[in-house]
Amino acid sequence: MLIDHAKVKAIAGNGGRGCISFRREKYVPKGGPDGGDGGTGGSVILEVDARIRTLLDFRERPRYRANSGDAGSGNNRTGKNGADLVLRVPPGTVVYDEHGAVLADLVAPGDRYLAATGGRGGRGNARFATSTNQAPRRADDGVPGEERALALELKLIADVGFVGLPNAGKSTLLARVSRARPKIDSYPFTTLEPNLGIVVLDAERQFVACDVPGLIEDAHAGRGLGLQFLRHVERCSVLLFLADVSSESPAADLAVVERELALHDAGLADKPRVIALTKADLLPPEERADAARTSGIPGALVISAHTGAGIDELKEILWARMAPVPAESEHDG
Ligand code: GDP
Ligand code: MG
Repeated sequence: MLIDHAKVKAIAGNGGRGCISFRREKYVPKGGPDGGDGGTGGSVILEVDARIRTLLDFRERPRYRANSGDAGSGNNRTGKNGADLVLRVPPGTVVYDEHGAVLADLVAPGDRYLAATGGRGGRGNARFATSTNQAPRRADDGVPGEERALALELKLIADVGFVGLPNAGKSTLLARVSRARPKIDSYPFTTLEPNLGIVVLDAERQFVACDVPGLIEDAHAGRGLGLQFLRHVERCSVLLFLADVSSESPAADLAVVERELALHDAGLADKPRVIALTKADLLPPEERADAARTSGIPGALVISAHTGAGIDELKEILWARMAPVPAESEHDG
């Protein structure tokens, strides 16, 4: 649950074939051999990019093939090399072979791993000329590109943590915004481990959200289920405070959660936060627009995980509040 996996097939490009050709000159019936070598096939390379946060793209598209080298041609021209194919992976990606042996641990932005090596180009006939064979009719085929099956694994660290009282609707929201399928129940302590889900805004923007279970009044003292999960919250860059808009006092509910977090670690209070009131569908329609103000939390977003109201806006706001990725990899942002 806390781990993101993908299986990838990396197929390097084949080397181009060597060329058989003879120089043609006026008045010279047959010149020397001038067939060029084939180009090298492109390699498949994994490279860490801090903008990438999940392995989701690899799950959706598991096969990657780099271009082959072009064949050599006459006049001693070497074929063009196939371009390398660079696959961007998130920081913290571990690469395994098909038997589970670790091949690489890609940590820092820019770290690279050569996943499949491009094939060498074949030699053209110009290379085979010797003093005894000045007109070789022989050239090599290119070497096939390497083909490797790899497994990628990423230990997810949530970017956004959902906090709120039991039954606030955290798990339901996580299921709404991601493909995670946490257990949902009206019983207060449904969630026994933090659930992680990948939230996709579009192809370029994804983040990891976690549903932090069961924060209750005594969580900081180790009672209830809270303590171990509070540690998880410490690693998130944004906290989403979630309260049930139909509860007696959403503001008081949030105050309880706030107090828990502060007792556990004062630093949590400094994290960027977003406040959302969920279950808006339970209010009469005419009360929804004004629900944040009447709940005493004027800045809160009013949403419903059941109907989807306000969810797109919430995802955008969470994305905007997340810690920016390191500047050096933001060139095309
Ligand atoms: P958690 O304890 O914070 O994870 O809360 P859950 O996600 O398990 O939800 C608790 C209860 O509230 C469940 O019965 C959900 O079906 C219900 N619930 C959650 N979100 C909504 C919502 O947007 N609208 C309505 N009507 N019910 C909701
Ligand atoms: Mg839950």
